[in-house]
Amino acid sequence: MNTDNDKINLLDLDQQGLKDFFNDIEEKPFRATQIMKWIYHEGVVDFHEMTNLSKALRVKLDEIAEVRLPEMTMDQPSKDGTRKWVLKMFDGNQIEAVFIPEKGRGTLCVSSQVGCTLNCTFCSTATQGFNRNLSTAEIIGQVVFANRTLGIPKNKALLPVTNVVMMGMGEPLMNFDNVIRAMAIMNDDIGCGISRRRITLSTSGVVPQIIKMRDVCDVSLAVSLHAPNDELRNELVPINKKYPIKVLLDACKHYVEGKARRRVTFEYIMIDGVNDTRQHAKQLARILEAVPSKINLIPFNPFPQSSYKRSSPESIQIFQDTLIAAGYTTIVRKTRGDDIDAACGVGW
Ligand code: SAH
Repeated sequence: MNTDNDKINLLDLDQQGLKDFFNDIEEKPFRATQIMKWIYHEGVVDFHEMTNLSKALRVKLDEIAEVRLPEMTMDQPSKDGTRKWVLKMFDGNQIEAVFIPEKGRGTLCVSSQVGCTLNCTFCSTATQGFNRNLSTAEIIGQVVFANRTLGIPKNKALLPVTNVVMMGMGEPLMNFDNVIRAMAIMNDDIGCGISRRRITLSTSGVVPQIIKMRDVCDVSLAVSLHAPNDELRNELVPINKKYPIKVLLDACKHYVEGKARRRVTFEYIMIDGVNDTRQHAKQLARILEAVPSKINLIPFNPFPQSSYKRSSPESIQIFQDTLIAAGYTTIVRKTRGDDIDAACGVGW
C-alpha cells in the first residue's frame, strides 16, 4: 500500500508476485529470489546495499519500488524478556507486535487489522472499534522489522523470529487475502523460512474462511472458544450467533482431517464467575470429543475498560484437572509481558 508515493512496496508481493513484477519490468524472474533473500534472510531493505544486483537495476528499482517497513513509535521491554512494539503504519495508524523469547524459540505475535469488527466482550482491541485491514506489506513487515531490530546473526543460521502467532490486533480471517499472502511469505524458504507448524492463525471462528484456508494455506489453527455452549458464547464472542459452536467445530474437524498428528488448539479465557466452573469444564470436554484438540487456558488479562476479573488460581486448577482427567492435553498459559500490557493476545 502506498499513501504518499506511487512506488510499489515489494513487501506486498509473494514469490510469484515478485516474479511477475520482474517480468513486467523486463528483468529475469530469478531476481525475485535474489531480492527475497536480501529482504527476508539478510534484513536489507535498501536496494543500493543489494550487491548482487547490477547498478543499473538498483537505480531502476529505486525509481519504481521500495521496501518499506512500519516505523517503531514505542519499544517496551518487559521484565520477563517479552518486548512490545507499537508500530506506525504508512497512513499513521498504529498497531502492536509482541516478541516472546523462550528457550530455543522466539515467537512474534502479529496484528492483522487496525482495530477489530468483532466486539468480543473481554478483548481490549474491541474497545477501539475497527479502522481498516492491514496490507500484506504491513503484516509481513512486522516480522522483518522484528528480525532487523532483534539482530540478524552473522551466520544467518537462525533468525530471531522462529514462530509466528497471528494473535495480535484484529481477526486475521476477516483480512483473508492479505493474511494468507503474508503467511505464504513467512513460510517460503526464501522468505522467512518458518515451517507451517510454527505459524499459528488464531480465529474467533469465521467458519467459511476456516474452510477456505484449509485448501490454500495449511498452518496451525487456534480457535478462540472461551465458552462451552452457544448461550454463553453468543455473549462473549458475538460472531457465534452467525457461526454457532456445532458449525465451528465441524469446520475445525474438517481442517485437521487427514493430517497426521495435527490438532486444533482451543483457547479458553478464564474469567471469574463467567465461564470457569467445573460444569463448564465438563461441558467443554464433551463438545470437543470429536475434534483432535489441545486446550490452552488463558487467565483473563484485565484492562481498564473491562469489569471482568481473572479466575482464581484454584478455579483454573480445577478446570485444568477436569479437562486432563477427560483426556485432553491442557496447559495454562503463562501470562507474559503483564507489566507492559502485552499479555492479552499472546498464546500458542
Ligand atoms: N481475533 C483472533 C486473534 C486475536 S485475539 C481471535 O479471536 O482468536 C488472540 C487471543 O487473545 C484470543 O484467544 C483472544 O480471545 C485472547 N484475548 C483477547 N483479549 C484477552 C484478554 N483480555 N485476556 C486474555 N486473553 C485475551
